[in-house]
Amino acid sequence: MEYASIINFLNKIGKIANLNDSELELLKTPQFIHQAELEVSGKKYPAYRVQHNNARGPFKGGIRYHPEVNLDEVKALAFWMSLKTATADIPLGGGKGGVTVNPKELSVEELEELSRAYVKAFYKVIGPQQDIPAPDVYTTPEMMAWMRDEYEKLIGEKAPGVITGKPIEAGGSLVRDIATALGGVYVLEEAIEKIGLEEKTVAIQGFGNAGMNAAKLLVERGFNVVAVSDSKGAVFDALGLDIEKLVKIKSETGSVINYNSEKISNKQLLELDVAILVPSALANVITVENAANVKAKIVLELANGPTTSGADDILHSSGILVLPDILANAGGVTVSYFEWVQNNEDNYWDAETVKSRLKEKMVSAFSQVWEKYSGSEHDFRTNTYVLAVKKILDAERARGNL
Ligand code: GLU
Repeated sequence: MEYASIINFLNKIGKIANLNDSELELLKTPQFIHQAELEVSGKKYPAYRVQHNNARGPFKGGIRYHPEVNLDEVKALAFWMSLKTATADIPLGGGKGGVTVNPKELSVEELEELSRAYVKAFYKVIGPQQDIPAPDVYTTPEMMAWMRDEYEKLIGEKAPGVITGKPIEAGGSLVRDIATALGGVYVLEEAIEKIGLEEKTVAIQGFGNAGMNAAKLLVERGFNVVAVSDSKGAVFDALGLDIEKLVKIKSETGSVINYNSEKISNKQLLELDVAILVPSALANVITVENAANVKAKIVLELANGPTTSGADDILHSSGILVLPDILANAGGVTVSYFEWVQNNEDNYWDAETVKSRLKEKMVSAFSQVWEKYSGSEHDFRTNTYVLAVKKILDAERARGNL
């Protein structure tokens, strides 16, 4: 994923929404870029925190540990967080962090050292009213607890709201663990009702936090999940996969491919004849090369940036409804916001309260875009972006910055 493609897309949004040069410039430029090198067991790992926009509230966004993390990618992810918090109507801005590391090669002790080193490098620029990190690809609640602990040691006081996605016993919120998937399911249910889709077959690409929980939640709701994948490959069963069994196999053997059914490639999974396709792993998996072969009626983007912009046009012209990442996966940051509110109030909600407030937020976000989209010549993603950038610019204008 390249920041340049975001700039291109923003230029298109700028024309549709009649933005002037200073508005476009503000959206294109992250407010702060912080970089460091973290040393663990004699090895050095590049680390980033990009703070894109805080007009609507403190910067907010996860930290990713992945061998391919680079500044350009973190900038793109930070930009998307600003749009995501605006889409979800939560009073937060957008930021993102990352470390270029393969966490699978580090021991638990080294991962703890790396997480603490990240906070030591950036603690002056994060904080409950400044910038609030969270988990992302290959980072876990356990790591968030280490980071909270390190931050509090450095500043010498309690600050549970410095980071979200924490385990419950370290100040986390109920439902946060499944929030990305659950928020996506709420959006999907609304979309299904609007377009009157009756088929219930689903293919899910990726079996991490988002993909695995989406599989569980969809099966509970009567959907037929026929294919899932992870980085090692995909499994398929037209009669439906046993998700409980898959979860067990993934945790015991490290991959879903050890499940006993037909093996297919990740590429084949994306092109299956299913009603709903759920990309839930990394960016740029639906591209100009395979978009014309996608047969799903709805694409629910639980990953960030799974569809390239060229592919997006192809999907739109095939009449496929793409529920874009900044809406479809906003459930994660929405419950992160709830976690932060609970931390700030020192008052904790039960699971039903979190779920019903999440549903309210997701349905409202979907409805706002749907209303715009129904009378519009542009695709659903474009309409989502136009709404989001307007909210950010309105906040900047109200502050006198435009
Ligand atoms: N990493 C998640 C995302 O991309 C969650 C961010 C958060 O909770 O702050 O939306």
